[in-house]
Amino acid sequence: MSDIIKLLPDHVANQIAAGEVVQRPSSVVKELLENAIDAGATTIKLLIKEAGKVLIQVIDNGKGLSETDARMAFERHATSKINQAEDLFKIQSKGFRGEALASIAAVAHVELKTKQENEETGTCITIEGSKVISQEVCVTPKGTVLSVKNLFFNIPARRNFLKSDAVETRHIIDEFHRVALAHPEISFTMLHNGNEVFRLPASNQRQRIVNVFGIKTNEKLVPVEEETDVVKIKGFVGKPEFAKRTRGEQFFFVNDRFIKSPYLNHAVSAAFEGLLNDKVHPRYFLYLSVDPQRIDINIHPTKTEIKFDDEHALYAMLRSTIKHSLGQFNVAPVLDFDR
Ligand code: ADP
Ligand code: MG
Repeated sequence: MSDIIKLLPDHVANQIAAGEVVQRPSSVVKELLENAIDAGATTIKLLIKEAGKVLIQVIDNGKGLSETDARMAFERHATSKINQAEDLFKIQSKGFRGEALASIAAVAHVELKTKQENEETGTCITIEGSKVISQEVCVTPKGTVLSVKNLFFNIPARRNFLKSDAVETRHIIDEFHRVALAHPEISFTMLHNGNEVFRLPASNQRQRIVNVFGIKTNEKLVPVEEETDVVKIKGFVGKPEFAKRTRGEQFFFVNDRFIKSPYLNHAVSAAFEGLLNDKVHPRYFLYLSVDPQRIDINIHPTKTEIKFDDEHALYAMLRSTIKHSLGQFNVAPVLDFDR
């Protein structure tokens, strides 16, 4: 008899996990921005070079990490955000799986510079393909600078599979939009190849939407607001003339997290019934707050799909609330809108 089963070494397990978590540069952007938010940052800067293929850097003024934690952060299933199984049902943070940094470090060259508030000096650590290359004391401002270089340097198939810079940049901007819209209270900037793409000062929901999508957006927004025992809805839908043929600006946020939900999307479309022809899609920016106990966000590694306790009630409420808001604003039907 011979035994053939063995536990995979960590760096192999990390690389496999990276297959799910790190699909392309924009996945790295999402994870790093979310970590900065979880660290309590009020100012977050994103720098990318060549659509993130060469560099993705996120600079935050959050709480930083200790010397030991700076290393621990790259271990798989290492997280400061949950302790026990019960915590999974009351998640307030963006992260909790403790997988992102381990996965990213398995498939890129990573440098972390970080300093906590009351420390004199910080710590700088470099990791390549899960291997710690160096760690040194360094001078760096309070907060964290995380740089990801040469993504997929050790997975040629994946690197070759990346799309053109234009396409990858589009994905990055999509992620940036989602995070920036979810957190209007945080100031964000984004630079691509040294050029400023976005500068978004801390503000409120409406102002953030306008700063992202342009001043003309302002007059096209219809406010939506409702609160029940189960859910609080706040946000905006676009007036029918703001609808487009492409499904771009459609955003659901649940407890400040962007999510995709074809089911709830249908509820919004249903609210627009009779106001839009079926070739165009309504714009919306809808922020839902629900008791974290009533949702499950752990069904997908990227956490963009979640499960609600009572989807049907939510559907009905969303639909009637939006219908009511549209009615109040005397929105006239636009049936032949060709755009
Ligand atoms: P998760 O976010 O699920 O906890 P990550 O792999 O993304 O897992 O990060 C691991 C840990 O590293 C986090 O739990 C957090 O403690 C720490 N960390 C990551 N990014 C930052 C940051 N920008 N500032 C402070 N701490 C960070
Ligand atoms: Mg994280």
